[in-house]
Amino acid sequence: MSNVRVRFAPSPTGYLHVGGLRTALYNYLFAKKNNGTFILRIEDTDQKRFVAGAAENLIKTLSAMGIQHDEGIFLSGDTLISKGECGPYAQSERLEIYKTHIKKLIDSHKAYYCFCSVGRLAALREEQIQNKLSAKYDKFCLSLSPEAIEESLAANEPYVVRLNVDENRGDIVFEDTVRGKVTIHAKDVDDQVLIKSDGFPTYHLAVVIDDHLMGITHVIRGDEWISSTPKHVLLYEAFGWEAPVFAHLPLLLNPDKSKLSKRQGDVAAEDYLEKGYLKETLINFVALLGWNPGQGNTQEIFSLDELVERFDLAQVHKAGAVFDLKKLDWMNTEYVKRLTPEELYERGMPFLEVKEFYKAWNSQQSTINEEEKIEFVKRVLTIERERLTKLSDIGDNNPFFFVSELSYDAALLHWKQNAKEMTKEALEKAHKILSGLNDTDWVKKETIEKVLMEAAGEQRGDFLWPLRVALTGAQRSPSPFEVAWVLGKDASLKRLEKAIKLVS
Ligand code: GLU
Repeated sequence: MSNVRVRFAPSPTGYLHVGGLRTALYNYLFAKKNNGTFILRIEDTDQKRFVAGAAENLIKTLSAMGIQHDEGIFLSGDTLISKGECGPYAQSERLEIYKTHIKKLIDSHKAYYCFCSVGRLAALREEQIQNKLSAKYDKFCLSLSPEAIEESLAANEPYVVRLNVDENRGDIVFEDTVRGKVTIHAKDVDDQVLIKSDGFPTYHLAVVIDDHLMGITHVIRGDEWISSTPKHVLLYEAFGWEAPVFAHLPLLLNPDKSKLSKRQGDVAAEDYLEKGYLKETLINFVALLGWNPGQGNTQEIFSLDELVERFDLAQVHKAGAVFDLKKLDWMNTEYVKRLTPEELYERGMPFLEVKEFYKAWNSQQSTINEEEKIEFVKRVLTIERERLTKLSDIGDNNPFFFVSELSYDAALLHWKQNAKEMTKEALEKAHKILSGLNDTDWVKKETIEKVLMEAAGEQRGDFLWPLRVALTGAQRSPSPFEVAWVLGKDASLKRLEKAIKLVS
């Protein structure tokens, strides 16, 4: 193991945001690439935002995606447990640690108690608005005497603890791996609250203490946190600690370049899994939101192992990354095509077996056994695989596979303006040819294709159209060879007989 240590530190708000998935993935890739350690920490100090079961859900979703952490919070059955030397890994269990550390800052005058009432703060803000000044605490409580502080504490007066920002310290400068050099004037930074009136630490305090104590070497997180980083830099200085390397990942955007929001589609990673996008697709897609393998390289399909090999934090883009659903669909089709019929069956069946048309079909299959049913579904999937966008679409485009009796308008059987007799002749010819095939011929769809194509000769439409409609009852469908192959000899002949009757 190298000394690279990174972390994904979500606040458990109920689901894994796709932006969070990308943050987790980039941290994972960076750790794997550098033989480092990837830590999962839960930032649950905001009591107002607590959602029961959210941490469990996050862990389940990450592991469903194949992003496995090495250290931090894990699920053992239904229980959350900490694994590693730097635990506990849930901030709500680290309150004593924050207390000890804030005390050190107060003792060294780097932080101070503030007893200002909500009313005073509101009046101060009002005055700043009037004078067109930015929101900033006026350090009123910094000058309280030790006795006054003791008195207020003894009287249980509500208080917060603030960082004492030295306005004269000069610019705050840090190097961001993605953004480059970032400079902020110290006078623009507020004396931020470190301990809230409920006694809980703020995000800023907890994140700095935890990152330091957990030995985090690289902080890789979303761009929305970059404005907090100067505050963190000041805190590292106040504690006398070395700051980690920072890398802020570009914003995720809707196609209209607005910030990715719930309003324009799903933002929960688990919703995409539920819709039948493959985890391989989601990982690949999300990896490309802000990174690509470099100039001139147009490769778009990457396995997780390939990503580990190729990923480079230095190649992450600054510009916002568009979350393009069309591209996601395209990529999923590519991944579905790569599944074997067995894999597609295993992964697709949970989506198919809940569909009403499948349930109805399944309950009507008294003449075939379980194995034959599985074989049938595998054949359907073999045909659908090339054109399937999501696993949840299975069967939707070809409902004729899962009905015992087709119903369609007889007029559809005629190719162009062909007369009834011609259609009938074609159907009878097809019936004769298919009757002549034995079970071995039916094993391969190519065999069926060969005999039917030979029979069609030059008159493809005249012959193949009525056959295809007889088998599917549909205007559009896969080829009649493929459909016949899936249906099997008996069902194909039965459908042809019905069509012959319709045109007789
Ligand atoms: N708890 C923050 C979040 O919910 C983590 C920010 C950070 O990585 O520092 O995203």
